[in-house]
Amino acid sequence: MNKEKRAAIFERLKIANPAPTTELEYSTPFELLVAVVLSAQATDKGVNKATARLFPVANTPETILELGLEGLKEHICTINFYNTKAQNVMKTCQALVEHHSSQVPSTRAELEALPGVGRKTANVVLNTAFGEAAMAVDTHIFRVSNRTGIAKGKNVLEVEQRLMRLVPKEYLQDAHHWLILHGRYTCVARKPRCGICLIEDLCEFKQKRDYLE
Ligand code: SF4
Repeated sequence: MNKEKRAAIFERLKIANPAPTTELEYSTPFELLVAVVLSAQATDKGVNKATARLFPVANTPETILELGLEGLKEHICTINFYNTKAQNVMKTCQALVEHHSSQVPSTRAELEALPGVGRKTANVVLNTAFGEAAMAVDTHIFRVSNRTGIAKGKNVLEVEQRLMRLVPKEYLQDAHHWLILHGRYTCVARKPRCGICLIEDLCEFKQKRDYLE
């Protein structure tokens, strides 16, 4: 894909949604961090339901530690893999209290050192809480980047690095939200909605099809 086409795609996505953000509900960097840790292999809707119960009761490292592991599990037991996630959240809270004055750190290295926080989670927090141009490549971004030809890659790291290099600077900050939303609602996995896709004429996917009934 040439750079003019890539720029045109992001310009259209921007016009359609000038201020995109995560669908996870949060009001502090700590709430965002917890929500992202809980969201692995779970839907944002499901996470929002659980955090709507949890955050009014406990939304700081100290208050979650006070809740205790079993107390935390009670609030998040509707989410996939809640046992492991609860353990990671407890360990992360402990680390934040002990090493970061109960604040969420703002560097990749410090974030990735927290239990249960991988590269993707760190990228979401860096981008959404701290305004860094980071690219959190999930299954949607991976699919959309490869299908359209915006940034092809064999694995998520390759796609992330290509997006960081190829997306025009003015769109970098918001690009991952646009691509996630496009993958979630239009360029869906099994039946992409090419017939209503606003970048259909720019997309280089060879098997474009309108799956709308
Ligand atoms: S045209 Fe189809 S394959 Fe291309 S981005 Fe749109 S929905 Fe996805």
